[in-house]
Amino acid sequence: MPELSVKKHLSGIIIEYNGDRIALDTGIPNEPTLLSHAHADHLSGLSSAACVFSTAPTFDTIDARTNLTLKAREIVTYQIPFSVRNVKVVPYNAGHVIGSAMFHLEFNDGMRLLYTGDFNVVDSLVHSAAIPIAADVLIMETTYGTPDWVFPPRNETHANIIKSAIVECERGKIPLFKAYSLGKAQEVIRLLQDSGFDVISGNHVIDTVSRVYEKYGVELNSIGVMSKKAYESLSQKCVIVSSSAKHTKMNLRKLLGIKSAYSIESRLEEYSLSGWTLGKYSRRGHPLSAHSDFPGLASFVTGVNPKIVYCFTDNAMTFSGYLMGTGVNAVPLE
Ligand SMILES: [Zn+2]
Repeated sequence: MPELSVKKHLSGIIIEYNGDRIALDTGIPNEPTLLSHAHADHLSGLSSAACVFSTAPTFDTIDARTNLTLKAREIVTYQIPFSVRNVKVVPYNAGHVIGSAMFHLEFNDGMRLLYTGDFNVVDSLVHSAAIPIAADVLIMETTYGTPDWVFPPRNETHANIIKSAIVECERGKIPLFKAYSLGKAQEVIRLLQDSGFDVISGNHVIDTVSRVYEKYGVELNSIGVMSKKAYESLSQKCVIVSSSAKHTKMNLRKLLGIKSAYSIESRLEEYSLSGWTLGKYSRRGHPLSAHSDFPGLASFVTGVNPKIVYCFTDNAMTFSGYLMGTGVNAVPLE
């Protein structure tokens, strides 16, 4: 059997097997790239790729948020096979953000490899859960790969976010929920708008990404922070979703003038929305995550049933050790 090479490179990984060399979430000259999603920490070196293969929402999000120039792009669709070099590739939903894809590769000797990118095995309000696909080799992210990361049921987290919003509004405050502009911001906008709140998006980039979600059928009715409607909502009951509280406050100063903005700022109550809020040094917030928790990662490996697992991102070492303890061959990529 030919040897498989799996190496980290910039924001991603390069694999080489049986004469075929493919970049995953990074770019190298003259070689193809499979791109899992549009978060910035997966885009390094992409402009040097011979051709980038990804879903239409991922390309739309890249175009909306970055000035990245790609030499060539190929749009791929979930569950529709395509070829790269001599490899049959099938993209599957990764459940992480809009358009996020896992890639299942089948080499010409039958060896099957699954690359997850970032993935979530739990349904969110705006994304469907990732489902494991059988493979001989699994390359997976392990962001929350230690046993202490166990998230509560998502509907419980949703209920607690709504509760915080109600409590703060009732005491005359403006809750400001901090979430990444791609993925979680859209989920929490959806959650709060469906609960009857006026939702202000505190950063222009959130609106830019929300337009991509809307293009693919997700209805989002947030109010841009620089709009006249935001001015009206801020004097009444409203919530803010922000990817950068600092920039949201700068926007408020531009909209209202420094004096009026100050009276709004004094009413802001910040909540982080992240799995990390469960940690020892966390800030106030709720554990809304776009990644799988530890039990989710472990059950995903069981579902894929691989002969070997390569782990990347935070906790790769710990999760590999855990897998080895359960009899699964595992290697941390660090
Ligand atoms: Zn991501």
